[in-house]
Amino acid sequence: MDYPGNLFVVAAPSGAGKSSLVKALLELDSAVKPSVSHTTRPPRGQEKHGREYFFVAPGAFDAMVQSDGFVEWAEVHGHRYGTSRQAIAQRMEQGSDVVLEIDFQGALAIQRVFSNTVSIFILPPSWEELRARLERRGEDAPQTIDLRMHNAALEVAQAPHFDFVIINDSFDRALFDLKAIVHAQRLKFSVQRRTRSETFRALNIP
Ligand code: 5GP
Repeated sequence: MDYPGNLFVVAAPSGAGKSSLVKALLELDSAVKPSVSHTTRPPRGQEKHGREYFFVAPGAFDAMVQSDGFVEWAEVHGHRYGTSRQAIAQRMEQGSDVVLEIDFQGALAIQRVFSNTVSIFILPPSWEELRARLERRGEDAPQTIDLRMHNAALEVAQAPHFDFVIINDSFDRALFDLKAIVHAQRLKFSVQRRTRSETFRALNIP
């Protein structure tokens, strides 16, 4: 199946800076919309139901799995997360550009469902820097950091399946790279034929 707008999926190991980069992209580019996932994990800090996630009980999540309500779902760090068909369908009808900030399993699943997905993997500049960032963040106990580092090695091994790679050495540079990918996608012939159809018709381009 093809997604009618541009569909970007961004994956990265935790600590690589994915959330901050996607947040900055959404602030800078109002034509890109986020997809709000469902999760069984409890809200953190200022998170609001329906904004960062739809926070649901495990039973409600199970019911959605059983009724085929998810395009993909995965267990990540002990909680379940899923992209609902509805979250994508609404955006599809509008033909909006959508960014999914999901784990690598979800990103690969989305790529299988929507063949025109643009997949982006964000890498840390080194293992040492990734560990240092997780430590500086101060959110996790040392054992959790070890687990995240172990998982990060498994996740990074999936990078070859992605269309684009951004090495997040400097935030500004990585954001520039992310914007460049979004922009280049919009300049593709097939995309411009859809978004600038009147101009193409006037120029007699089939
Ligand atoms: P967090 O709990 O830190 O918000 O997210 C944990 C991980 O789950 C992150 O890698 C995040 O991108 C991923 N995630 C969030 N939503 C989804 C989703 O709908 N599907 C999948 N597969 N992963 C998700």
